[in-house]
Amino acid sequence: MTTLWAEWALLPTGWARHVAVEMAGGRVIRVTRDCDPVGERLGILLPAPANAHSHAFQRAMAGLTERRGPNPNDSFWTWRQLMFRFLDRLDPDQIEAIAAFVQMEMLEAGYACNVEFHYLHHAPGGVPYADLAETSARIAAAAETSGIGLTLLPVHYQFGGLDQRPLGPGQIRFGNDLDRFARLYDGTGKAIGRLGPDSRLGLAPHSLRAVRAEDLAPLRAMAGGAPFHMHLAEQIAEVEEVRAATGQRPVNWVLEHLLPGPDCCFIHCTQMTPEETEGLARSGAVAGLCPITESSLGDGIFEGLRWFGAGGAVAIGSDSNIRIALAEELRTLDYSQRLRDHSRAALATAELSTGRRLFQAACAGGAQAAGRASGAIAEGNWADLMALDAEHVDLAGRSGDTLLDAWIFAGDDRMVTDVWSAGRHLVREGRHIRREAIVAAYRKATASLMEAL
Ligand code: ZN
Repeated sequence: MTTLWAEWALLPTGWARHVAVEMAGGRVIRVTRDCDPVGERLGILLPAPANAHSHAFQRAMAGLTERRGPNPNDSFWTWRQLMFRFLDRLDPDQIEAIAAFVQMEMLEAGYACNVEFHYLHHAPGGVPYADLAETSARIAAAAETSGIGLTLLPVHYQFGGLDQRPLGPGQIRFGNDLDRFARLYDGTGKAIGRLGPDSRLGLAPHSLRAVRAEDLAPLRAMAGGAPFHMHLAEQIAEVEEVRAATGQRPVNWVLEHLLPGPDCCFIHCTQMTPEETEGLARSGAVAGLCPITESSLGDGIFEGLRWFGAGGAVAIGSDSNIRIALAEELRTLDYSQRLRDHSRAALATAELSTGRRLFQAACAGGAQAAGRASGAIAEGNWADLMALDAEHVDLAGRSGDTLLDAWIFAGDDRMVTDVWSAGRHLVREGRHIRREAIVAAYRKATASLMEAL
């Protein structure tokens, strides 16, 4: 058994002082407030959220897509072309090294779990590996190295568009028909069996563009209540494509045909009408928001005020992994609302500061999206925890919610000193315990990739 003791801790009932947290078997087994120092002493103890959406391999493209292409209206679609060229070269060793690096950065940023939306299944040219779930096994191996909690979502991706055109050359590494996907899903379940009991298997149809509408219900049944994620309503062009094919906007279509519920997490949702926003929020589904990537790709601004007003759940994901920064994701989300509405402290309430409301929402929604008993420091939950440096100059003299506000709006993830994932103490003094080896493997992988580009 391990015991942590914190000057301040954020508990489900609010802030508490002098809190002891006892952990065993990866779980929190007892929380005691107002007690004398015992065990490992910390400044500020918080629940560590799950990172609800990631495509690990895209981390190695960061910084490569900031030039203007021949298209005068450079957009998401030219970025996608470069991504397709890039992943035409990735091999399983590189996939594993990049994923371990991404997971290490997530842990150092304060995330305890990586929900990996994994669609890169086959060898270049689209030929399956001898083990159909080879690349899934590599993501699991990366999680063994990094120690992060993993919710792995193998992705079903079959078509190049809503007209069911075949996959283009950049997409054939993703593709399966439903039968082969079912085998891949089983293989992925076996691959994550090597990880701790906190690991989870979920399932993700890529998007309405890439999957047949009639396959969505069987896929959801295959998931059997486990996390079910899908990209939805990210780009105006996508909204138009769905409307042209079905007569409905994507969120309306999903509300009517998929009957979403708490097992569902829809990624982005940056293109919704007010009615769609309220309808989807009330369905109990999580909106998987990726504010830094959505800014990078110019996707649009999430209807945060309306969504929160309707009681909607949100989770935060680093998606393209151009930058893995938890505080910055939350700050970017709130700033997007302020810029659009000419407002301040957009998502604060009378009771909760902006930082507190955003952070708590990301913890609760992240746990729901990951299918993980976490998101709060509570008995029985996995011990997904992070500590902030109470000695940091920006936190001096702060208490309660302003600790979170100072971290999110004035500081950054360098304030994160320690992170535990299901009780595994993986970040100490701000650094991952296996940082050198993970960085060396990542450098080797990206050097050979850049040579080939
Ligand atoms: Zn994505």
